[in-house]
Amino acid sequence: MRIGLGYDVHRLVAGRRLVLGGIDIPFDKGLLGHSDADVLVHAICDAVLGAAAMGDIGLHFPDSDLRFKGISSLKLLASTTSMITKAGFEVGNIDATIFAQAPKISPYRAEMQRNLARTMKIDPDCINIKATTTEGLGLIGEGGGMAAMSVALLT
Ligand SMILES: [Zn+2]
Repeated sequence: MRIGLGYDVHRLVAGRRLVLGGIDIPFDKGLLGHSDADVLVHAICDAVLGAAAMGDIGLHFPDSDLRFKGISSLKLLASTTSMITKAGFEVGNIDATIFAQAPKISPYRAEMQRNLARTMKIDPDCINIKATTTEGLGLIGEGGGMAAMSVALLT
């Protein structure tokens, strides 16, 4: 068994879609990034790659590469899963937390878990998504961005 940790932050700006866990969430701002900037999926990719000692998301999917411009981060997670599977690992479980002042994440949580489970070809019970605000404090509390943190256990 091996454990990995992932952490990611993206800026919130007007004129972008807000995509979290592969779901388009109605909101007046979206996360800025080269891909769809799905901060949750990026943290999970990094946790999975970390557990496999296979570097990080920036190494495998560099933001200088036009192939990844605007790409759904679920595709990056699918590639990550196939890389670690080829290396002989299986995802045991994922636990992740989204840090966002708004919007409310709880209505989307079950669908996010299903999306991620389908992408990683594991049972939805093996994924837990949580969300918290930062009580109005700091960059995230003031609505300047969102962050996500994840751990992954590989067997
Ligand atoms: Zn990211």
